[in-house]
Amino acid sequence: QAKRLGSNRYAFYAQTLTTQMSQRMRVMAYLKEAIGSEGLSLHYQPQIDLESMKVVGFEALLRWRHPVLGVVSPAEFIPLAEENGFIVPLGRWVLETACAQLKTWRETGIFEGVVAVNVSGVQLDEGRFSQGVARVLEENGLLGEALELEITESSLMNDPAAWRAEFAKLDKLGVKLAMDDFGTGYSSLSHLRQMPLDVLKIDQSFVCDLPHDADACVVAKAIVGLAHNMKMQSLAEGIETKEQLMFLKALGCGYGQGYIIAKPLPANDVPEFLKQWRPKNLYM
Ligand code: C2E
Ligand code: MG
Ligand code: MG
Ligand code: MG
Repeated sequence: QAKRLGSNRYAFYAQTLTTQMSQRMRVMAYLKEAIGSEGLSLHYQPQIDLESMKVVGFEALLRWRHPVLGVVSPAEFIPLAEENGFIVPLGRWVLETACAQLKTWRETGIFEGVVAVNVSGVQLDEGRFSQGVARVLEENGLLGEALELEITESSLMNDPAAWRAEFAKLDKLGVKLAMDDFGTGYSSLSHLRQMPLDVLKIDQSFVCDLPHDADACVVAKAIVGLAHNMKMQSLAEGIETKEQLMFLKALGCGYGQGYIIAKPLPANDVPEFLKQWRPKNLYM
């Protein structure tokens, strides 16, 4: 009896695994088809200077809508794409699309600032990442300073030598480097010191508990202080309330983004957003 139950359970387990695996393979096959189709696009979330309240950048965020699967979150499909290396061509597409978009905005006088692109550690491990960045910048007539790359600390665990070399080359190009989701990974402060970083992004898990949670306040304050002392900028992500915004501003956090300013927008909505953007909206 027990044995039968056990083997049934095994059979069930194996079947679940197989279902999960084929589901993942199906999602990956769809994702590969999506590049270059309508289904895959970038949305752009404004990043503002908390002092002047001016829009200084837009973070490009992947959006995927599949006819059968519906909307799939990047939090789901990015890890899949990282596992099998598809993140390399996908990330290339994101970089090319975001830079081409910024070129258009600049040419039409819509926006002069920076575009921020998320980069996975897997892309850096490949070793020729910075070459691709240089090429895409050149193709779009952009200087390095027009581009900011956001990298999560947890994705940098694999091969420090590889990404350190890439970081140095990107730094030389004048590209800005931001540490995304800062405070949630495991990178040591000595690692941090060796990177040519320009920005620490305070993770939204801290921001969402401001200003009522004492621990979140301590962490936010520590990150702003650390950034300041290491001659970096600080940018808070996921700002949803006026209280959070005012608190961060009072801490001396330089930049911010979040729903209180705008949700990530389809590229077509960006000109209208910029036209109607009034810093004082936030004080009302
Ligand atoms: P992230 O880079 O930390 O991006 C911030 C996430 O928070 C985005 O989720 C954004 O839509 C969301 N967000 C922005 N403001 C608020 C807010 O006020 N409140 C709340 N609750 N959320 C807010 P999204 O777009 O679902 O992206 C999730 C993650 O997927 C990103 O986190 C990033 O790590 C990854 N990702 C997205 N696009 C790309 C990409 O092109 N390449 C790579 N490698 N990763 C990407
Ligand atoms: Mg990001
Ligand atoms: Mg982030
Ligand atoms: Mg985050």
